[in-house]
Amino acid sequence: MEDEKKNLNFLEEIIESDLASGKVDSILTRFPPEPNGYLHLGHAKSLCINFGLAKKYGGKTNLRYDDTNPTKEDTEYVDAIKEDITWLGFKWEKELYASDYFDQLYEWAEQMILKGQAYVDDQSQEEISEGRGTVETPGKESPYRNRTPEENLRIFREMRDGKYPDGAKVLRAKIDMASPNMMFRDPIMYRIKHASHHRTGDKWCIYPMYDFTHGQSDSIEHITHSICTLEFDVHRPLYDWYIKTLDIYPSHQYEFARLNLTYTLMSKRKLLELVQKGIVSGWDDPRMPTLCGVRRRGYTPEAIKMFCEKIGVSKRDQLMDIQLLEWCVRQDLNERSNRYMVVQDPVKLTLTNWPEGKVEWFDCPLNPAEPEGATRKVPFTGKLLIDRADFMEDAPHKFFRLKPDGEVRLKYTYIIKCNEVVKNAAGEVVELKCTYDPSTRPGSGEWRSVKGTIHWVSEEHAKKITLRNYDRLFTLSDMSQVPEDKDYKDFLNPDSLTLGTGYAEPALADDASGIAVQFERTGYYVKDSDSTPEELVFNKTVSLKDSYKPE
Ligand code: ATP
Ligand code: MG
Repeated sequence: MEDEKKNLNFLEEIIESDLASGKVDSILTRFPPEPNGYLHLGHAKSLCINFGLAKKYGGKTNLRYDDTNPTKEDTEYVDAIKEDITWLGFKWEKELYASDYFDQLYEWAEQMILKGQAYVDDQSQEEISEGRGTVETPGKESPYRNRTPEENLRIFREMRDGKYPDGAKVLRAKIDMASPNMMFRDPIMYRIKHASHHRTGDKWCIYPMYDFTHGQSDSIEHITHSICTLEFDVHRPLYDWYIKTLDIYPSHQYEFARLNLTYTLMSKRKLLELVQKGIVSGWDDPRMPTLCGVRRRGYTPEAIKMFCEKIGVSKRDQLMDIQLLEWCVRQDLNERSNRYMVVQDPVKLTLTNWPEGKVEWFDCPLNPAEPEGATRKVPFTGKLLIDRADFMEDAPHKFFRLKPDGEVRLKYTYIIKCNEVVKNAAGEVVELKCTYDPSTRPGSGEWRSVKGTIHWVSEEHAKKITLRNYDRLFTLSDMSQVPEDKDYKDFLNPDSLTLGTGYAEPALADDASGIAVQFERTGYYVKDSDSTPEELVFNKTVSLKDSYKPE
């Protein structure tokens, strides 16, 4: 029991204690995305926490769109967010919108006005921020602060009815202009914005601020644990204040550290800029840290959840090594993915003792972890292609692949020996003349082993495919450290995408696994949606090996 306790994260501790004390009977969390962009890996962490806690404690999770900013929001994002959450494998209890609560919020605002807890301020935005003061100096009260409730109500209704232009007036909570917490210096509750909303259309031209919306939305839904990222901790006292002032269901907010990853960034604003400027092909460009991007890259929901599990929940900001995520992707794909042979930089290999025209089909396992499992048929002939890197003319002693007079096994098939190296006028190797040893066919006779095994394809059967090899989007490891005089775009990696060609064994074209496959000895690749029957396009998911080991 003691040991079990020690392994709980701080949110689990809070929940267990709330359940034990009877403060709550069951758990209800929510995931509150603003539909102003696509979800990214940071959101995956939040999703795993919110849905994970609910699942662990037999509770539920609402999906609530935080849609109080009509100018930036769009139904395209609403739909994409649902698709991504579903892809990760999470099921929300209710699909809700903060905008569903606009009527209720408006009513609460009037109620506060009548109680003298809110007032209309005619000051400009500059005057308001000026008047807020600083952490060291108290703020100044607005000259409009002491309007009567009746006057405030009249003007607030006029604001609602569209009598004033954007920015002309705001509604502020009347709290304390000298409060040491800047959030309490008469925070803005409503602003005028003549803009169509993706759900409420032109019904409203005043919109509530985040702080006047979030806690109440939680309260309306009876969210027991409202979990958000650390930057909201300064908002918590105000969150509690509105709930107390309105005397509504006491939801509570808890904060955890944002996820940051090396060589990438997760600000929707910046990701949007990359899309809009055409620096990437879209939100789902496989280099993007968005969920649709990593999906197109071949990352699996299982790998992403494994990663979130490993990084855990902390209260201090963390920059996680992207290699840990890649490690998780490799772990998952290594277990599940089908194997195929693909040669990327081909050199001809001719077997001079192979019977002319003979094709031998080998039954090769789709996954070596299941040698008795499904297989694919791989054609073997006397005219093959191997990767140029698997041959070396002046090979060092430790080079165990093909070299002149050396032997190597062609994966799944025979041992061959290189007898002659043919070069063109420029001195480049164009063909390797070899002989195969028929007695070394696996499963027949005695097993003879050689140090090296290389992959290959039959030239006449090979299918030419297009490869998109991806690398890090940025060259700077910690993208929060972009120097003042530079822009984050100065750190874009010019080599983040290189195109290549592959020569694949024919079975690859028929792969129906729906996940990334392993190109043996090279890496994991996933079929891209740009593929046509004539041209197959594969995106590089992750390389096969890496020296990285998680702690
Ligand atoms: P961005 O700054 O990229 O716009 P955001 O926080 O404004 O992100 P929201 O749509 O408001 O994005 O986020 C929905 C939820 O996901 C919030 O609870 C937020 O705290 C959480 N979240 C966003 N980014 C991260 C991150 N990097 N790590 C963990 N959680 C995150
Ligand atoms: Mg936000």
